[in-house]
Amino acid sequence: MSSYCQACGRAGPTRKVQFHKHTGMLIMMQHGHIGGNFCKSCINDTFMKYTGWTAVAGWWGMISFFVTPCVLVWNTGLYLTTLGMPSEQTDTPQQM
Ligand SMILES: [Zn+2]
Repeated sequence: MSSYCQACGRAGPTRKVQFHKHTGMLIMMQHGHIGGNFCKSCINDTFMKYTGWTAVAGWWGMISFFVTPCVLVWNTGLYLTTLGMPSEQTDTPQQM
């Protein structure tokens, strides 16, 4: 069973994921998410980017203060479920 990563287009083991990103701006807030069948390295990248961003920029609002921990828990929990995924195959064939 082979599939293609919707983020980088490479063939390999993928997992359907959805990561969230939250930005608090005092009385405003911005919420975004990205999802699809991603390979392990794209899951890593997206998790780091979205969760890192939310951890820094998520807290700065009344509602955001409560939304941010939910986003962090969701992203981290989702990421943990992908840790057992096989890594993508390297582009360079290994010489025996
Ligand atoms: Zn990918």
